[in-house]
Order: sequence, then structure tokens, then C-alpha cells
Amino acid sequence: MHWPAVCENREGGTGNRGRGGSGVMPPPFRIAVLGAQGVGKTSIVQRFLRDDYSEAPTPGQSRKVHLSAAVLNGHVHDLQITDYPAIPSFPGSSLQEWTDSCCRGIRSAHVYILVYDICCFDSFEYVKTMRQQILETRVIGTAEVPILIVGNKRDLQRGRVIPRHNVSDLVRKTWKCGYVECSAKFNWHVLLLFGEALRSVGCARCKHVNATIRFQHALRRERCALM
Ligand code: GDP
Ligand code: MG
Repeated sequence: MHWPAVCENREGGTGNRGRGGSGVMPPPFRIAVLGAQGVGKTSIVQRFLRDDYSEAPTPGQSRKVHLSAAVLNGHVHDLQITDYPAIPSFPGSSLQEWTDSCCRGIRSAHVYILVYDICCFDSFEYVKTMRQQILETRVIGTAEVPILIVGNKRDLQRGRVIPRHNVSDLVRKTWKCGYVECSAKFNWHVLLLFGEALRSVGCARCKHVNATIRFQHALRRERCALM
């Protein structure tokens, strides 16, 4: 059974709030969106949260934190989606994380969405390196944090540089990560990829419960309904 809920999206700010008089909120799901410059990270996040898209590249020097909410397994969860700039490397220690303001919160994310551009070989290499660094540097006990690999710009399929099945096999079979291809421009599979991300973090947290989550199309700007 899916329960509908309206989610609003707010920028900045943190903290849990009681909701609907039901008492304490579960802690927020922290989603980190990473990838090389220009792969479409900001476009994906904007498409998901606002159903908005711009042809202009976004200036990408700082991280942007967005707050939203979702219903997962019958519980309302705050979502904290952080759109990171193209960081040169994943911080190897908490000190490094806090020294570089772009990286704040990155080591404690519950799920990583690693985005590459299907037409840019280097952007896949970036994702490879980032995945490796995440596995090597995350604090002990959290190494199994879910990672979802996303190939964006699916609409530019003709310019694809690595066959889809090669990437998909590597990611799913060898890396044991989820793989989704999407187009922020045409809104293909954007909801699906966030659903996958939430399902993976939900499953990791409550191993005996099948994660049920469903998104509906945005009802109007700044709002969307989750079932
Ligand atoms: P970021 O640096 O990773 O945040 O990338 P942006 O979101 O700023 O996008 C970089 C450029 O790619 C912009 O000009 C976007 O309009 C374009 N872009 C983003 N997503 C897509 C997509 O799905 N298809 C196409 N064709 N272009 C896209
Ligand atoms: Mg950006």
C-alpha cells in the first residue's frame, strides 16, 4: 500500500521536525550527487525538485543543499539532496572534509549518485575514480553505503562513447551498484533514479522490509506528490 504525501522543497536549513503529530521523524536520507563538471548534476536535481530545465550550464563552484521529503515503507522521510561541484578527489579524512567547504557532509551521505555523461569518456573515468575513493576512504562500518551510477544525456544516444551493455555489466555485475540512464533535458528516468536511490538506502537501513516508494509527476512547480 502506498500513502500519498505532498513534499515541498526548501533550500538550505537542516533539522528534523515532527510531522502530522506522529512524533519523532526518522533521520533524513542524505543523498550526495557527484560527477564531473557539465555532466548534468544540477540539471537532474532541478528536474527532480522543480521540473525545471535550463540549457545554460550552471556555475559549479559550490555545493547546494536541497531539502525535500518522501514516503518510504509508510514513513515520511526528510531528504537532503546535496549537489556537489566536481571535486578533485573524495576527502580521505573528516579534517579534509571540513577544511574544504565544497565537501562538507560528503563522507556521511547515505547514498551516492555518481553521474556521468554518456557522450564523455572522461566523465565515466571520473565516476570510476570517485567510486574507488568512496570505497577506500569511507569510515569503517559504512563501506556498504549504496552507490547508484547514472548515465545522463540519454537523448544524445548517438554520441555515446561506451556501449550501454558494457557499462551496465561492469556496474551491476562487478561493482554491484545500481545503474540508470536518464535525460534531465527530456525528463526521462529522473524520478526513477531517485526512486532507485531511496530504495537502496531504505533497503540498507531496514533489511527485512521491502521498500515501497512511488513517485507521481510534479503537481505544480515547487511541489510533487510521492505515493
Ligand atoms: P553540472 O556541472 O554537472 O551541474 O551540469 P549542468 O546541470 O550545469 O549541465 C551542463 C550542461 O549540460 C547544461 O548546458 C545543460 O543544459 C546540459 N544538460 C544537462 N542535462 C542534459 C541532458 O539530459 N541532455 C542534454 N542534451 N543536455 C543536458
Ligand atoms: Mg552544477
